[in-house]
Amino acid sequence: MVAVDGPAGAGKSTVARQLADQLGFLYLDTGAMYRALSYKALRRGVDLRDEAALAELLADTVVELYPASEGRVRVILDGQDVTDSLRSPEINASVAVVAGFASVRTEMVARQRELARHGGVVMDGRDIGTFVLPHADVKFYLTASLDARAERRYRELVKMGFDVGLDRIRDEIQHRDMLDSSRPYAPLSMAPDAVPIDTTDLEVEEVMAQMLEICRRRLS
Ligand code: C5P
Repeated sequence: MVAVDGPAGAGKSTVARQLADQLGFLYLDTGAMYRALSYKALRRGVDLRDEAALAELLADTVVELYPASEGRVRVILDGQDVTDSLRSPEINASVAVVAGFASVRTEMVARQRELARHGGVVMDGRDIGTFVLPHADVKFYLTASLDARAERRYRELVKMGFDVGLDRIRDEIQHRDMLDSSRPYAPLSMAPDAVPIDTTDLEVEEVMAQMLEICRRRLS
């Protein structure tokens, strides 16, 4: 089992997906699970500050992750493909609030552990190495400067057709990181036994080479 954690825009999903592909492992994007719940809550008009209502909603929610072409993941929410709706600015702005509640996290973590129970997974998120899979064989913690992360997210959103400004993205990422790092229950933090990689000045191929090297050594 491989855990990949780090703040928003550090490049986790890109490399975790490729790493899973190279290792023949399943890629599990835990952020997509929190995004799917936020999407459903927004659509239903559920008050995002109401922990009990969100926990109740989650109890009645099925989120499935399926591998798709080019190592991508399709997210099926209650039988409906919502993949293309989960990266909107609206969800970016609300997901950390939804993910901050202990009762939401307890259920999500149980589902994530269940998905990983047979091993052979690369799981990316915020609390994977510290909380979800504390006994993962390899743990990575990806970081990058705020500017680099904002720039990446900006390019990603523009490519998807959203009309966004770089400054707003930078503020949104900073705010989300603050919420993710300061929540009392399983916050974003680096596991003591994680390998830190600063991706600010690295190409994806360079990050991948480092990670693969470490995985091949540790997983053999
Ligand atoms: O990784 P991604 O940016 O899709 O994650 C979206 C949000 O979901 C994060 O900002 C965080 O609030 C939440 N999340 C989390 N724990 C995880 C994965 C994601 O709290 N393991």
